[in-house]
Amino acid sequence: VRVLQTSERVQRRLIAVASGKGGVGKSTVAANLAIALKAAGRKVGLVDADIYGPSQTKLMHVEGVKAQAKDEKLIPVETPHGVPLLSMGGLVPEGQAIAWRGPMAGGALGQLVDAHWGDTETLVLDLPPGTGDVQLTMIQKHKPAGAVIVSTPQDLALIDATRAIDLFNKVNVPIIGLIENMAGYACPHCGQVSDPFGKGGAEAAAKQLGIPFLGRIPLDIAIRTASDSGNAADDPAFADMAGKVDQWLAG
Ligand code: ADP
Repeated sequence: VRVLQTSERVQRRLIAVASGKGGVGKSTVAANLAIALKAAGRKVGLVDADIYGPSQTKLMHVEGVKAQAKDEKLIPVETPHGVPLLSMGGLVPEGQAIAWRGPMAGGALGQLVDAHWGDTETLVLDLPPGTGDVQLTMIQKHKPAGAVIVSTPQDLALIDATRAIDLFNKVNVPIIGLIENMAGYACPHCGQVSDPFGKGGAEAAAKQLGIPFLGRIPLDIAIRTASDSGNAADDPAFADMAGKVDQWLAG
């Protein structure tokens, strides 16, 4: 195990990836965002703070690998993607997450953020879904530099996303933008994307809310199978989104 040396000058910034509800692809977006930012040359790490369903060890292909510690600080796990990872999965006793309160989760997250991150400048933070006490404590305590909101095109999911946006507004964390996931269906045979729920709703909602729109990611079996096998999704929408986040970081 290699301990990264932290240089005094590193100004680490947290980018929160959040959603109003579960199952909208927040973890998939967080993993692919981190991988794409790394490809763009950023020194990036990934923190899985989703106590209800930590899935990044699987997505990043390091399932079962335990983080070591040195001098009472955790050492991020190296992944095949070159993006170091720390996950709440290793800290929360299995099956107990539901009973966790905001302050406890905020404290545990502290251990993941205040770890041996070395010269990592950007930490992508996969937050738990929803807008409750746990999420509020986490973002109050660890003040992300900005937030990416993930939503599906359905109206209800968008209403939930609006709640997530309100949560960040409350604590003055800027919204980097809204990404629409599972937008349209990519035919596994011909690749053509069709739109059973119509098109443009999320983009219009982003406009109405006055936040940038980061693009649409189709519902594509290839994205699911890539995630299941710990690979990056080969979809240009992720690269587009990461390009916009990269620009925001360069700000
Ligand atoms: P969340 O973190 O919001 O709960 P996940 O990222 O775990 O959601 O995604 C839920 C499920 O949907 C996973 O099986 C994932 O592989 C799949 N998935 C996410 N985005 C897409 C997509 N664009 N196309 C196909 N499957 C997707």
